[in-house]
Amino acid sequence: MNHQLYHNLIFELSHPGRRGYTLPKNEFGRHEIPATLKRTVDAELPECDELTVVRHYTNHSENNFGVDNGFYPLGSCTMKYNPTINEEIAAHPAFVNLHPLQPAETVQGAKEVYENLQQALSALTGLSRFTLNPCAGAHGELTGLMIISAYHQANNDTKRTKIIVPDSAHGTNPASAAVCGLEVVEVKSTADGLVDVEHLKTLLGDDIAGMMMTNPNTLGLFETHIPEITKLIHDCGGLMYYDGANLNPLLGECRPGDMGFDVMHINLHKTFSTPHGGGGPGSGPVGVCEKLVDFLPTNNCATNAKGHFTITVHPYHGHFLTYLRAYTYILTLGKENIKMVGPYATLNANYIKECLKDVYKLPIDTICKHEFVFDGLMDKSTGVTTMDVAKRLLDHGFHAPTIYFPLLFHEAMMIEPTENESKETLDAFIEVMRKIADEAKNDPEIVKSAPQETPIKRVNDVEAAKHPILTFKQLIDDNN
Ligand SMILES: *Cc1c(COP(=O)(O)O)cnc(C)c1O
Repeated sequence: MNHQLYHNLIFELSHPGRRGYTLPKNEFGRHEIPATLKRTVDAELPECDELTVVRHYTNHSENNFGVDNGFYPLGSCTMKYNPTINEEIAAHPAFVNLHPLQPAETVQGAKEVYENLQQALSALTGLSRFTLNPCAGAHGELTGLMIISAYHQANNDTKRTKIIVPDSAHGTNPASAAVCGLEVVEVKSTADGLVDVEHLKTLLGDDIAGMMMTNPNTLGLFETHIPEITKLIHDCGGLMYYDGANLNPLLGECRPGDMGFDVMHINLHKTFSTPHGGGGPGSGPVGVCEKLVDFLPTNNCATNAKGHFTITVHPYHGHFLTYLRAYTYILTLGKENIKMVGPYATLNANYIKECLKDVYKLPIDTICKHEFVFDGLMDKSTGVTTMDVAKRLLDHGFHAPTIYFPLLFHEAMMIEPTENESKETLDAFIEVMRKIADEAKNDPEIVKSAPQETPIKRVNDVEAAKHPILTFKQLIDDNN
């Protein structure tokens, strides 16, 4: 699709008076819209024929990269395949046409799905009960931290205003804690990438509300000191929060509830194969241990059984069609196959790591879980950065890994293949990564100026972040 016509904005394709659709002549009486509700000036809308509109959006959709087009090893994000059967079930008219204000007796089947998914998550995590309401991982964190605060308040333990968060944590952890009104205390990582227990000991006291942990952590490493850490926090009166956004490597292997965690969230849009972001609403269910069950928000969210939780986490029941997708995923795998998710996700990540660690720098050389982090190319003399490698991957039809996160290394490159990928795909990715390492040595300019093959070449990301052009009008004004 090379002709400029196919790259124009829809406003550039507009012609005054051109119509895509004409309404039939009105045979009924006119219904006057009150003048106060009417526009005083016409909306600025493009005027195009239907075929132009269809081509415009179809061509643009093909410029997008998705899991259905190619390998998408975005670490920490678990861009796993969203099975088509999930969509089929979620699109069923019996579910799509439900209304949240329907009388309860007419939605018993939907309530059963909610209850069954809640119970499946409890069984997989070892926690007593889940609320499915929160609609993102960060929203789940906030809900979980509010539960922790409500618990301490119910015990008149009001000094507990601090929450311990590891320095390797996902950025949402400290952000959620701050929104919840808690003071974040950072615990350091050791050189081998795990929580520094000796440093943790110096932070404990009767002002600690709890600690947030991610496991495997953002380096993809299993936190081996969890029993000791949970004991330290519980002994000082705090609660343990488990960031279970990525539960992939643990499915069927071990359960946060059994490790002593009191509260956790799960991202259905990572581990449980529901779409991310623009692909659909997220969902971040929160599970709690027995003693916190009464602090969960109820489904109508006004208050809970004990009246402790008086905020609205989400109106009505949250993203029901997302629950259906996750529940379908769990049922299609079944009790036996779901146990294979963790081992395959782990095997795939370790395979890539071992095949590339002679050309990319592996700062922590150990067995990882579902993901791992390189610190750029092994040979730093070429001047080729992680950003350049990421851009060059696009030329070969692979999405870039997560880059410059976690912040522990300068040239971080975080790779997560997920359990779904075939050996052929992993080998193709490895081959391209090795080829780019070669180019960095022999033809660095081609890497530094990548991508060459994509519809949009390298963007100026500082300019894009500082002066984003967000409207068509601004684009025209800026060009004039
Ligand atoms: C993705 C992620 C989150 C945040 O989830 P959102 O749905 O993006 O809000 C939190 N913690 C970890 C470890 C994550 O990977």
